[in-house]
Amino acid sequence: MPHSRRRIALPAMTPGTGRSVVVHRFGRAGARPKAYLQAAIHANELPGAMALHHLMPMLAAADRARRIRGEIVVVPTVNPIGQAQLVGSNHLGRYDFLGRDNFNRNWLDLSGAVAERVARRGCRMVIGLEGSRIRTDVEAALTFHELETAGCRDKGEDPGWAWLKHRYAVSYRMSPMFRDGAFVDAYLLARFFRDARPSAALAARETA
Ligand SMILES: [Zn+2]
Repeated sequence: MPHSRRRIALPAMTPGTGRSVVVHRFGRAGARPKAYLQAAIHANELPGAMALHHLMPMLAAADRARRIRGEIVVVPTVNPIGQAQLVGSNHLGRYDFLGRDNFNRNWLDLSGAVAERVARRGCRMVIGLEGSRIRTDVEAALTFHELETAGCRDKGEDPGWAWLKHRYAVSYRMSPMFRDGAFVDAYLLARFFRDARPSAALAARETA
């Protein structure tokens, strides 16, 4: 299927105005693997949108040459509400003007659904604590106590070290900056621990 564009109309803010989100598709609908790329949920942060602007003609060309194996969905600007938040010469767009909510902090809570799925076979969780040893020792003791109370089993340090060693072993080529250790990445779990605990308990229940 060639490059397709679909415009999804959103509810209007006020009479006489309109908003929409444009979804671009490359490759074959429903084919796998599937990648979804979006940018500018904080609507004033545009490097991602700029990158997609330059990427899309390349994807269209690859699509024409039938070189896309799966399906690639691109939403180059995902937040038309924030995009319209211009005051004077400033582009705001990080917080909703109406409710003052941060556009990038209203996460869909999937932890319950994920826990349901992994509960059948259990899952491995790698816990890393950063800081001075005297502090992380205490934090580790408290964290492991919480997790054991929730039904988890400590498998020792080996899985954590194995993850650390192989965390850049991905199928695509990483920037040399990573290889040379100039950056470390962060995997953020967007949950408060007190909320995550029931999910951990659920996931652990059938594996204990
Ligand atoms: Zn942001």
